[in-house]
Amino acid sequence: MENKIENEKYLVVSLHDVSPAFAPELKEICQELEIQKIEKKNFLIIPCYQGMLDISRDDYFLGWLHSQIKEGNEPVQHGHQHTLRRYNSAREYFFSLCQGFISRQCAEFRNLKKEKARKKIRAGKKILRRAGINCRGFIPPWWAMSPETNQILKEEGFNYSASLFHLMDYLKDLKIKSEVIFSSQGWSDYWLRAYDFALVKMWSKRNNLVRIALHPFDIHRESSFLFLLKIIKDLKKNRTLTTYLNYLKR
Ligand SMILES: [Zn+2]
Repeated sequence: MENKIENEKYLVVSLHDVSPAFAPELKEICQELEIQKIEKKNFLIIPCYQGMLDISRDDYFLGWLHSQIKEGNEPVQHGHQHTLRRYNSAREYFFSLCQGFISRQCAEFRNLKKEKARKKIRAGKKILRRAGINCRGFIPPWWAMSPETNQILKEEGFNYSASLFHLMDYLKDLKIKSEVIFSSQGWSDYWLRAYDFALVKMWSKRNNLVRIALHPFDIHRESSFLFLLKIIKDLKKNRTLTTYLNYLKR
């Protein structure tokens, strides 16, 4: 039995930026995944996108989201507002621009100190609780967070988090190597496809867990979406499709 578990390989598909702001795109992606029989997913939920779209106040969207969770999709807290914090100095602003070049200005937990991180994590959690959603995992926007945020997540009782290159199991105190495969917008998407291709062909072979991230904008770029879909279908032939929580509990 132990050997079987050792040899088994897994695949986690995440749907990012779950918020009423992207409802049409999210529903279209889910319909497509359903057709392809890619059923179990992680839903990375933004509690209050841009500080304006509080998920607990949108009954129509919440109804859809709860039905998705009931079907076995696992909710994950995806930050709080999915935006960068305000800047205290010109220097901070300059660095945020450099970071924003790759993270599209959404890495809200990248620079946060302890108390600010705690406040935002709790604010997001409160909204999700009000919406009737209990998340055991927290994945920050752009998979980016300060070391202080990582510490606070453990203190706040989350079971896991993830960066671009690792899944962090807080309960077992493990850092599991697993790069994320995702697409981008514009010219950088072509570079990413080469990277994704290399990941799947070479690097992912050694990984027990492969992670694929889908974003609402993917549906607007047919070739990117089809590329990701093909990767998922290929990987699914030899890997068990699961969610983060089930993977960590195995
Ligand atoms: Zn995001």
